[in-house]
Amino acid sequence: MSEIGDISIERIVETTELADDGVLVSDIRPMRFSQYPGQDTVKENLKIYVKAALRRESSMDHVLLHGPPGLGKTTLAHIIANELGAPFYSTSGPSIDRPGDLAGILAGLDKGSLLFIDEIHRLPIQVEEVLYSAMEDFVIDVVVGNGSSARSVRMPIAPFTLVGATTKVSNLSRPLISRFGIQERLEFYGVDSLVEIITRSAQIMSITIEKDGALQIAKCSRGTPRIANRLLRRVWDFAEVEGDQVIDEVIAQRALMRLEIDQGGLDRTDRELLRILVERYDGGPVGIETLAITIGEEKSTIEDVYEPFLVHEGFLCRGPRGRFITEKGKAQVTNLVKF
Ligand code: ADP
Repeated sequence: MSEIGDISIERIVETTELADDGVLVSDIRPMRFSQYPGQDTVKENLKIYVKAALRRESSMDHVLLHGPPGLGKTTLAHIIANELGAPFYSTSGPSIDRPGDLAGILAGLDKGSLLFIDEIHRLPIQVEEVLYSAMEDFVIDVVVGNGSSARSVRMPIAPFTLVGATTKVSNLSRPLISRFGIQERLEFYGVDSLVEIITRSAQIMSITIEKDGALQIAKCSRGTPRIANRLLRRVWDFAEVEGDQVIDEVIAQRALMRLEIDQGGLDRTDRELLRILVERYDGGPVGIETLAITIGEEKSTIEDVYEPFLVHEGFLCRGPRGRFITEKGKAQVTNLVKF
């Protein structure tokens, strides 16, 4: 979501959850490793850790999942819980203000539960500190009494597995990172995996889609399943109204063109960012703050949403003096006449 003046806009290639994703997300979210294409290394490792925990009949070690939004961190947390047969609890960093709130959640967990904390880098430090002893020794310190009679009492909690997700691993403190025995980085998906994801989602939603239609959508999804699923729905609308209810290559291409998404998965804002870099800053380097002001986006949105993909695809580089465009990025700007 971006703010323009006091109007909020949703980008079609937005990687954070959009309001109308609710039903879709719950319906098509994979619940088993076997339903989760891509991220092979991460998946194979996690399978081993789950199997080992089941064999030992102990709780699995804490897991930190990091990587850009929409790549399947929350989904993996659900899958781990399912594969372990563990109750799943979920919260997020920004929603816990006080240490007592987190202590309350931890004290209420059943033995072997999985607690998922999304955006764990946004936990206030006093709240984060509650996690240290909880993760390490399954104890929490609670303050009893008031004023001068207040004292801290150690309280045992049931063994649990914490799964933390973050888009900004560099913002996590050392003490917190070091308490995650398992740390996995999710990468952007290849086109083949995205085709599998789109085909599966289409099947669940009773959408008829041809292989080439799925391929077109996959190529425009910025390596991100959340975007792939969103584009599938939009292209489906075009197939319904302007086609014969089948998503084939032609209707997919036409719909994506109308959505102003190019074959590289770049939308208007991505292209604008590259164009501004060339035209106003001679290709850079330019500081992230300046860039954010120029294109009217939050610095964090550029860092979390736009940049990772543009860097991954080789359009943009991050240097000590700021962002600068690559030759590939310049070529992309030159091709902009298409839109
Ligand atoms: P994150 O937590 O990393 O932001 P999510 O786990 O919420 O991402 O995934 C975003 C969407 O993409 C969800 O609808 C989810 O079902 C789908 N998704 C993510 N990864 C996969 C995958 N490997 N296979 C199928 N669907 C996926």
